[in-house]
Amino acid sequence: MTTADVVIIGGGIVGASVAWHLTEAGCHNVLIVERETHQGKGSTGKSMGGVRAQFATKPNIQMSLYSIPFYAAFEERLGHPSGYRAQGYLFVATLPKHLEYLELNQKLQKSLGLTQARMMSCEEIAGTVPQLRCDDVLGGSFCSTDGFIDPYSVMVGFTARACEQGATIWRSTEVTAIHRDGSTIAGVETTRGRVNTPTVVNAGGPWATEVAALAGVPLPVEPMRRMLVPTEPFDGVSHEVPMVVDMSTGFHFRPESLGFLLAWNDPEEKMGFNPNFDPAFIEKVLTLAAERVPCFENLAVNPKRAWAGLYEMSPDHHAIIGPVPEVKGLFCANGFSGHGAMHAPATGKMVADLIVRGKTSVVDEVEVLSPARFAKGELLHETAVL
Ligand SMILES: Cc1cc2nc3c(=O)[nH]c(=O)nc-3n(C[C@H](O)[C@H](O)[C@H](O)COP(=O)(O)OP(=O)(O)OC[C@H]3O[C@@H](n4cnc5c(N)ncnc54)[C@H](O)[C@@H]3O)c2cc1C
Repeated sequence: MTTADVVIIGGGIVGASVAWHLTEAGCHNVLIVERETHQGKGSTGKSMGGVRAQFATKPNIQMSLYSIPFYAAFEERLGHPSGYRAQGYLFVATLPKHLEYLELNQKLQKSLGLTQARMMSCEEIAGTVPQLRCDDVLGGSFCSTDGFIDPYSVMVGFTARACEQGATIWRSTEVTAIHRDGSTIAGVETTRGRVNTPTVVNAGGPWATEVAALAGVPLPVEPMRRMLVPTEPFDGVSHEVPMVVDMSTGFHFRPESLGFLLAWNDPEEKMGFNPNFDPAFIEKVLTLAAERVPCFENLAVNPKRAWAGLYEMSPDHHAIIGPVPEVKGLFCANGFSGHGAMHAPATGKMVADLIVRGKTSVVDEVEVLSPARFAKGELLHETAVL
């Protein structure tokens, strides 16, 4: 019979980060169980890789304040590239209410120690991305340490170093049951047999609710499709531009390879496991692109290169992190609502801290992210969801 100090269900970027942070904290007998033949087939391999600290709430800002410097030092620390590129995020406002919202957020960000975020005038925005149509732009906000990472590379780096430090990963292995001894975790059943353990981490991404159900507990995480459209090579806009977010429509884009990666969160998208890319999305996103960046009307797209993946939505669009009150030894690392790649380092540190020491200082009040908040009706409110 196999035993492990901690079993992590799910080998995406979050499970891998939890594993590495546990081994760093001195907990080496860690087992990651991943049902796919290789890692990254969940949300991690589909991500846009954006990282930002420009959020509207304290826990999200504080998780970014741990994660972004971590990504900047990733290669030095783990000897593996994170792909971090500090090209910034530029939020572009065309409505007074959006500008006020950015100003308000920036006050909170600065009070928490984010020094690089600043407001930008319309003229400065036009200077930063000269191809942007700015006739209706009132201003915006920019943070130079925001940018992009390569989530797949980060996941590989975390996993490799965790395994060097004692962790094990079982691929092509599904967790089919979570065993409890009364209200305490006793082990997991896998397609490779039983593993005894006192501690289980749910890192199941969009499948987190199904994983929680194996332990007999509810978890309000729902999958929602997101689609991305990469363009063919295009040099009509500089490849040094930030992630640009047009707040009037939600359209956003960033440089990717020799072209650009186009994104838009269709408000008509329904919750559910729909992994299929809808070709009609291409015209929608190209229309929004050309409205904000007129020369984007010349973009070429190969529909075969576009893809869809799943966000793991929580009811208040914040991560669900911490112990499950009803089941001793069960921990959540779930519900990132589209921010799991950028917040993976903070999540790994927080979950490892909570398992090993029972507390964490990554965020001031980790309880606000607890799975218990839903039953208590104490939801958080984040309006800047991309
Ligand atoms: C199109 C798109 C764009 C995105 N853009 C961004 C972005 O710009 N920035 C950002 O921060 N985030 C972004 N995200 C979100 C981000 O990708 C996710 O939040 C993150 O990858 C979640 O990682 P994870 O490890 O929790 O989940 P996953 O990568 O989905 O990993 C979960 C794993 O659990 C495994 N699993 C599930 N159940 C079982 C079981 N019973 N037994 C064994 N294994 C199991 C699955 O096979 C899977 O590999 C984006 C997501 C999508 C889809």
